[in-house]
Amino acid sequence: MDNREDSYKHKGLRQRLVDGLIKKGIQNKAVLEAINKVPRHFFLDSALDKIAYQDRAFDIHCGQTISMPYTVAKQSELLEVKRMDKVLEVGTGSAYQATILAELGAQVYTIERQEGLYKEVQKSYPFRKRYPFIKFFFGDGYKGLPTYGPFDKIIITAGAPSVPEDLIAQLKPNGMLVVPIDGGDAQIMTRITKGPKGGLKKETFGDCSFVPMLKGTE
Ligand code: SAH
Repeated sequence: MDNREDSYKHKGLRQRLVDGLIKKGIQNKAVLEAINKVPRHFFLDSALDKIAYQDRAFDIHCGQTISMPYTVAKQSELLEVKRMDKVLEVGTGSAYQATILAELGAQVYTIERQEGLYKEVQKSYPFRKRYPFIKFFFGDGYKGLPTYGPFDKIIITAGAPSVPEDLIAQLKPNGMLVVPIDGGDAQIMTRITKGPKGGLKKETFGDCSFVPMLKGTE
């Protein structure tokens, strides 16, 4: 990344963003602290520097988007991340969500299906030294990462038509998977919890909006 600075101004804007997230209902202290710590503007084009802390999605490379901070916070909260949890993220995009998970203490395995985005992150990920426990993969997230699983948690950051079976199989007993599921008009934030004997519990948490989860790589 090009000599980005994390100034007092950025820090102030970040605190304002966090105050806004609290008003919108985010309660998990560790998640709020992580959002307060990670400079979101480092993950965006420098032209967006001044507006990087608005609670909105922005375009990144290859026609994809960085999710809005509220959504990142909500998914992270629903995932109930614990230190050293092994977490699979489907949809690396800008790697902002992956970084929030790493800041929460997770060992992050993140997979992206668009080679252009994967290469961009490889080239310019800003915090390699700070977060050595993020591993980046190029591939189809529908298949997950069977050789690295099973995972304590799985987070999908693209709208899926249904819960991918292969990913359920890669979830540990008592593990959780958070995914926006297409429900016709809107996507519905959904959490699947795997019981100790493999039974599945499904909870829903309202409408949301993500780019679609697509099959294969490009
Ligand atoms: N987590 C990202 C948000 C990215 S948007 C961030 O913090 O910036 C969703 C991403 O999911 C896009 O980059 C898209 O290319 C990717 N994606 C969609 N379907 C996928 C699949 N089957 N496997 C892996 N990545 C996928």
